[in-house]
Amino acid sequence: MSSLAAPVFPTDLTSPLAHARVGLDSCVHCGFCLQACPTYLALADENDSPRGRLVLMRAALEGRVALDDPDVSTHLSRCLGCRGCESACPSGVPYGHLLEVARETLAAMRPLPILARFILWIFARPSALRVALWFARLARDTGIAAELARLPGSLGFPFAMLASTARNATPAWTPRAAATRATVATLDGCVMEGLFAEVNRATERVLAANGYALRAAPGQQCCGALHVHAGDAETARRLARTNIAAFEASGAEFVASNSAGCGAMMKEYGQLLANDPAWRERARAFGARVRDASELLAAAGPREGAPIRRRITYDAPCHLEHAQKLSAPPLKVLAAIPELELVPLEDREQCCGSAGIFNLIEPGVSQRVLAAKMDCIAATGAPIVATGNPGCLMQIGAGLVRDGRGAVARHPIELLDESYAAAER
Ligand code: SF4
Ligand code: SF4
Repeated sequence: MSSLAAPVFPTDLTSPLAHARVGLDSCVHCGFCLQACPTYLALADENDSPRGRLVLMRAALEGRVALDDPDVSTHLSRCLGCRGCESACPSGVPYGHLLEVARETLAAMRPLPILARFILWIFARPSALRVALWFARLARDTGIAAELARLPGSLGFPFAMLASTARNATPAWTPRAAATRATVATLDGCVMEGLFAEVNRATERVLAANGYALRAAPGQQCCGALHVHAGDAETARRLARTNIAAFEASGAEFVASNSAGCGAMMKEYGQLLANDPAWRERARAFGARVRDASELLAAAGPREGAPIRRRITYDAPCHLEHAQKLSAPPLKVLAAIPELELVPLEDREQCCGSAGIFNLIEPGVSQRVLAAKMDCIAATGAPIVATGNPGCLMQIGAGLVRDGRGAVARHPIELLDESYAAAER
């Protein structure tokens, strides 16, 4: 470390990291988390493991090293925030929260990389985001993205991500179930509505077909997950307040998200706004009403559709599996499709390397993590990979675009919608 002699934290008891000291202290250094950590497995460096990163956070808190020391910040930046370590930890270390407050503290000391700031700036401004996504769709729908996806390495990868979001026209069908179960307002989501609008419409149809009455929630914005994961918690709090107000006004009993990352973020609004007396209770009550769309469908059955004779495999999004602790609901969604053959995916609970904007700002580590995932997917021989998060759909989708086997990534609800559409014909 280059600045061991420059204590910066021992007296700063107001930093977000200092407030999380109890969580840091709960680590007993047992190392059970190491084999659950994709960056440790890819880089074989203890500093790139959960235990190593917690040691670095503690050293910074105690003033033995500067948090913005390039060696420390590099290892914190290389963390995917996948929270696989939380699931493996017997001591209940709240690693995801610790990472967020460490990054928030670090961001106050040193600006984020310019690419990260630019992306986050766009996502926090609906009009700028609309323009950016319009150009993204133009590049996708004209085939430009598919052409540029052939560029080597990290140059072509973002275009492969974009190309993977292309869909054929959705078959038209109208849900006929009586809306008797509960009222639901859905989060549109930035990337979901901008690049996966068909999946959003499919989610609305499938929820309605299972007895949910949909309510509109105008005025909603980005959930703030990208911001809080990068350390820009202030912007995330602003977005959270906007969303809480918008969904409260909808009057819906539940707030549903078909994006694992957004759902996990909204469930944790109470924690995000814990120090805001005016919003703390509203945020906690709001978080308790948030559900992944697959949770609502699983609670309803879901209703069975028409057979689809295809082989698929399922990859668990980290923010469903580890952050929301939801393993069964997406599988219940897939089980409602008769004759769908589900091939087990080895290490399905390991991160694919997407992690919000991680794949754009840490492409080297992201690609190494993705390579392991692609090997497991190839071993299944399945032509469809189901996964319920836009980042995972694009990351795995890009890997599939580039490996040329013709396989595709699809949202589980997209497949159930197809099954319901077939039942209507
Ligand atoms: S984070 Fe948990 S599993 Fe990892 S070393 Fe600490 S106590 Fe052990
Ligand atoms: S969040 Fe994921 S990448 Fe980061 S330390 Fe935990 S397991 Fe490793």
